[in-house]
Formats: sequence, C-alpha cells, structure tokens
Amino acid sequence: MRYISTRGQAPALNFEDVVLTGMASDGGLYVPERVPQLSRDELAAMAGLSYAEIAFRVMKPFVGGEIDDATFRDIVHDAYATFSHEAVVPLNQLDSNHFLLELFHGPTLAFKDVALQLLGRILDHFLIKRGERAVIMGATSGDTGSAAIEGCRHCDNLDIFILHPHNRVSEVQRRQMTSVLADNVFNIAIEGNFDDAQAMVKASFADQAFLDGTRLVAVNSINWARIMAQIVYYVAAGVALGAPHREVSFCVPSANFGNVFAGYMAYQMGLPVKQFVIATNANDILHRTLADNDFAKRELEATLAPSMDIVVSSNFERLLFDAYQRDGEAVCALLERFQHEPAALAEAPLARLREKFASHSVDDATILEAIREAHHRTKELLDPHTATGYRAAEVCRADAATPMITLATAHPAKFADAVVKAGFPGVPLPSHMDDLLEREERYTVLPAELAVVQAFVAEHRRTPAA
Ligand SMILES: *Cc1c(COP(=O)(O)O)cnc(C)c1O
Repeated sequence: MRYISTRGQAPALNFEDVVLTGMASDGGLYVPERVPQLSRDELAAMAGLSYAEIAFRVMKPFVGGEIDDATFRDIVHDAYATFSHEAVVPLNQLDSNHFLLELFHGPTLAFKDVALQLLGRILDHFLIKRGERAVIMGATSGDTGSAAIEGCRHCDNLDIFILHPHNRVSEVQRRQMTSVLADNVFNIAIEGNFDDAQAMVKASFADQAFLDGTRLVAVNSINWARIMAQIVYYVAAGVALGAPHREVSFCVPSANFGNVFAGYMAYQMGLPVKQFVIATNANDILHRTLADNDFAKRELEATLAPSMDIVVSSNFERLLFDAYQRDGEAVCALLERFQHEPAALAEAPLARLREKFASHSVDDATILEAIREAHHRTKELLDPHTATGYRAAEVCRADAATPMITLATAHPAKFADAVVKAGFPGVPLPSHMDDLLEREERYTVLPAELAVVQAFVAEHRRTPAA
C-alpha cells in the first residue's frame, strides 16, 4: 500500500514510513493512493465477530503486509484488551432508531484511546524492527496528552514528553497524565498557556538538532494510523445494525475532523452510509464552510466542550483532496489562501461534499439544554461533546427510517463540570479509576523557554542503543 500527499509534491511512502513521518514534506497530509474495498460478502461475514477481529480485517489492507498477519493480530488484540467493555465500543439504543456508539471505555475515558492504544504499539513494533528509539513530543490542553501517554507507557523504544499549561488543565485531566509513573513518560508543566506549549513543540519538530539524530514522532491526529484505527468502529457499528443489507447514518462531534474523516473512509471502502452529520460547538468553521461556504478562521472561543475548541480543522484537508478529485495543486492553492485570508471552496467540490455531509453548530446554552433533554427522554447522561452530536443528529437527520448512530466521544465523568452546570449532582468516575485523586503524581514545572524544554528532553530521553 502506498500513501500520497494531499498537496501532490511529497514522495509517496509505504505504511511504515507514513506512520513514522506524520506530516508530508510539502505541508500536506498522507492518504492511501487507492482506497481498499470491502465487498458486500466481506462486510456480511463480519456480523458477530469480535471487535479485534473486525479491526484486523478492516486495517489489514492499509498495513499492506508490512507487519505479518499473526503479529498484527496480536497488536490489535492487545490494544483493545485495555478497554473495560467486552464489546470495546458498545452500541446503546436511545430511542426507536437513534443509537449512541460509546467510544469512551478505554483507559482515559475518551475516544482518542481507540487510535492511540494501537498507534503506540505499531510505532514500538517498527522501532524494534529497525533497532531504533524515538521521542514523542506533544502539547495538550487535556484529552490527547493522556491518551498518548496511556498508549505509549508500555512501549520500550519510545520516550514520551507531554507539555501541558501549568495550572490550566482540570485536575482529572492532569492526574490522568501525571499519575502514570512509567520510566518513559515525562510530563512537563509549562509556565504559560496552551499556545506557548504548542509553539515549543512545533519549533522542536521544525529543528530537531537538539536530539542529535534521534527520531521525533508526532502522534497528533494527522498521523495516518490514527485515522486507520478509527475506520474500524464505523464498520463494526454499521454491520451490527444491518450493513451491508441496509444503510446507516452517523453523527460525529467534530474538531480536527480526524474522526469523521475515518467514517468517510469506511464509506469509501464500501460501507453503505446514507448521511454524515458533523456537529461542532461554537468553534464552527466546519459548519460555516458547509452551510455558507465561509472557509475562514475565527478567533478561538472557550466552550463547555473544550476538546472541540479549534480554529483550524487540520484533517479537513484530506476530505478536500477528494472533493477536488485528488487535484493536489488545487488543494494547495486553496489552503495557502486560507492561511492568510478568508477563502471559499469552488462550486463543484462544495456540491460534492453537500451530497453526503450535513452540519450543525451547537452553542454552550444548547449543550446544557441537550444534556437535560437527552436525560429526560432517555435517562442517559451525555458528556458535553456527545451532547453536540445528540442535538445535531436530531436537527439534521435526513429520515427516520435509517438508523442514526451518534458517536459518544467522552465519558460524562471526564467533563463533570458541564454536567453539573446542566443541573445534575455530578458524575462518579468509573470504579477502576475511583482512586485517581489519591494516586501519586510526577511532573516537572519548566519555564516557557524553548532552550530549557529542549535541554530537558535531550537529557531525559533514554540514549539510543549503540
Ligand atoms: C478530540 C475530541 C473530539 C474531536 O475529534 P476530531 O477527530 O478532532 O474531530 C471530540 N470529542 C472529544 C471528547 C475529543 O477528545
């Protein structure tokens, strides 16, 4: 399997190099050169299989034989054995035809575990094979950092450094990161805000001399393996509700667009999908683009669904590449314009997107209303991210006959503040985490100075084997 860049100028890579590389050298994102197909028979044969087995079958063509089948099966099995529900991602029926796909039964209670449990293990596999070590650096305001740490804590050939803004993440989110006491996990609390932390990580990727040749790996949502892992649950949920014999629809609380793009890939592979509904919070660039062709940045708003607070949706570029019929030059021109000024999509690509995608933006007051309404109607307590999806699905669904599957991206206990604001007494953590607030923590506070942070990383990473 070969992967090509959405901007058409970077060399094509195989799976191993795509996973280790992250962003393409031309500034684009890698996508498969050809989308592998799942026939109706192959889909039908998945009914009743375990999640790990479906995952193996869906992902195998993307790996393209670069990991042997038996090893890849083991990796997939281990990754999903960390989930606390036997179904890994259970479906929960809300009413006659609206379902929640619960993606929050992993170690950090949010859907990013689905991809990061797998990515850490795949990276470790390739590094062992190459006899290399690598360093992961990332900045987080919460969710991604803890999921990345949990995904890498058992990976011998990876050292992970996660920067978070000191005193500016919630206690639960901080402790999910800092109570992981593994030798290869380093939490750095930056005396600054999230943007300071992010800027230092970006600068470190741009100039890696401080690591003397050790590879620096990105685990943010542009990494292809994260998209690949997320395709699986669309297929699994679709098959559970009758695909390939009938269509299903999905509603996805969205930010960087990695999650919903994975759904689009499942559709491209052959899953019969009637409609994708994109839910956003007040940071609504995706909704503005689809509804009004207003592809323009707006200032960041802090909302009750903080993991969806973004200015730019990086993975949207992958969908644009298809909408522009894989014309890398046109995508490149559009995104360069977008960097500097408000942009708009050409008519034909926008029309193509609107055939499959609907969208809706949900403000904070409506998030609280949706949490209350969902509880009143169904007895389910939704987290604020899932609540945007619940509302958008009700507003946008094309028909009542097609099952609507809303992706539940976080456990309500992880965002208990919003649930309390909605008028509920709070949400207990699941039992396997109920000692989180007593666990020992370990982190280092550093000033927001690039040289200091880089010296810390260089000193603490474990030296490459000679
Ligand atoms: C990351 C995240 C999202 C957004 O997912 P994208 O793939 O960036 O669109 C939604 N909800 C939660 C809880 C998240 O952590």
